Amino acid sequence: MPADGYLERLKREGRIVVVGASLAGLRAAETLRDEGFAGTLTMVGDEPYEPYDRPPLSKGVLLNRTTPDHTALPRRRALDADWRLGVAATGLDMAAKRVRLADGEELEYDRLLIATGVRARPWPHEREAELDGVFVLRTRDDATALQKRLTDGPRRVFVVGAGFTGSEIASACREREIAVTVAERGAAPLVGALGGVVGEVAAQLQRESGVDLRTGVMVTGLEGDSAGRVRTAHLSDGSSVEADVVVVSLGATRNTEWLTGSGLGAGPRGIACDAGCRAFDIRGIVTDDIFVAGDVARSPHPLFGYQFLSLEHWGNAVSQAETAAHNMLCKSVDRRPHMWVPAFWSSQFGVNIKSVGVPSMGTEILISQGSLAERRFVGVYGYQERVIGAVTFDQARWLPFYEHLIETTASFPPPFATVDRRPEGARPVPADFPDPSVPTHGPTVTLSGYSPADRRMTFTPGRH
Ligand SMILES: Cc1cc2nc3c(=O)[nH]c(=O)nc-3n(C[C@H](O)[C@H](O)[C@H](O)COP(=O)(O)OP(=O)(O)OC[C@H]3O[C@@H](n4cnc5c(N)ncnc54)[C@H](O)[C@@H]3O)c2cc1C
Repeated sequence: MPADGYLERLKREGRIVVVGASLAGLRAAETLRDEGFAGTLTMVGDEPYEPYDRPPLSKGVLLNRTTPDHTALPRRRALDADWRLGVAATGLDMAAKRVRLADGEELEYDRLLIATGVRARPWPHEREAELDGVFVLRTRDDATALQKRLTDGPRRVFVVGAGFTGSEIASACREREIAVTVAERGAAPLVGALGGVVGEVAAQLQRESGVDLRTGVMVTGLEGDSAGRVRTAHLSDGSSVEADVVVVSLGATRNTEWLTGSGLGAGPRGIACDAGCRAFDIRGIVTDDIFVAGDVARSPHPLFGYQFLSLEHWGNAVSQAETAAHNMLCKSVDRRPHMWVPAFWSSQFGVNIKSVGVPSMGTEILISQGSLAERRFVGVYGYQERVIGAVTFDQARWLPFYEHLIETTASFPPPFATVDRRPEGARPVPADFPDPSVPTHGPTVTLSGYSPADRRMTFTPGRH
């Protein structure tokens, strides 16, 4: 029974280090204590704050309904943890089981949880990104700065990218009667997550709410005035927009650089782990003492063809953290798989949008309830004749029903009748997702020079 003895000792007097002190890190730590871990628990976070909640940053905070310092995550229990806040983990020695910190300290661990999440992808042209008035939105500090600038009363806000965050920012601006332009490379807002059929509804919502929405265009450059304040955004169709606030909302980059050279299977796409949240090393062999959870993780899901899914979803971070923590402390036969069915919510332009499953895998969509025209509907996504996802606009109460269809691999189109199905829901139509084989971004860099010494990389705006 040596393994049992080890686990008993681990629980009693082991050392667990959690890197990433946010939603996944906190919920994992709480679960560790709930499951009887009485040893030393160290929480490492590069932000100076105790764990806070990010969804309000693009919603209540921008609407001035709350302030960024009122977003602390509720605590489920006392943790008795050693908090190392404001200090980044900078390296991992897997053989010695040690995490190196930016202040030079080294933390030894028996089990390590990595929950370092993602960061906002910055505007790629560094000098333009540094112009006063150019923002991203991921952290409490980002939200504090943007909230202040919106309260100063900008003449126009320019949002680059109409994904969920960009659309929520535009929505908050309109609710505060601030003029806003949104530029989106795709054919419609939310098109990458929900496809063109639903994206068209999102576009109508934006335009009717007064957003100056430009689709099918790329932003080719940001220009500042002599004082270094942003003034103009130039677009690939030759037009330009005067704005004194620009919010770059181009998605996220995974926080894995600190693991470079460690031997862990970590890279730009995140950290791959098995369904039990154990990280893979670069050889593809699963580790026994390093676990991953939250936005930084990629894990296989049997319901979705065992694809490695990276989910930037609040609920996923909580559920994966709980599973990882449980598995850190138990025998292999008692490990649980992370089988959470992806779910996401957003509120924008007065509409509550929720999704379940993986709509972006869908090739077809059927409006099974309500109607697109009324902006109150359920859209069901099909892939290879089974239900793979669903989205609701102001119809969230039906979501558990569709989640069950996804879990039970129900056939698509769904065979049942719905009382409020309209003629448009008589048969599925193509879901109209962007072609994944087409690069999502135009060229952003060019190389010049011939010898290694004069070889230079320069930003080049993408063009359509
Ligand atoms: C503006 C906004 C709105 C959102 N709205 C929604 C929504 O409506 N619905 C929804 O489902 N989800 C939403 N999300 C996503 C949700 O907030 C995330 O899924 C969730 O925060 C993931 O938690 P996490 O702990 O995995 O990662 P994160 O919250 O990203 O936390 C990771 C932490 O690790 C820290 N870190 C990184 N590198 C290091 C290092 N080397 N050393 C130490 N610390 C490090 C980071 O600074 C960060 O504090 C939103 C996110 C944002 C930004």
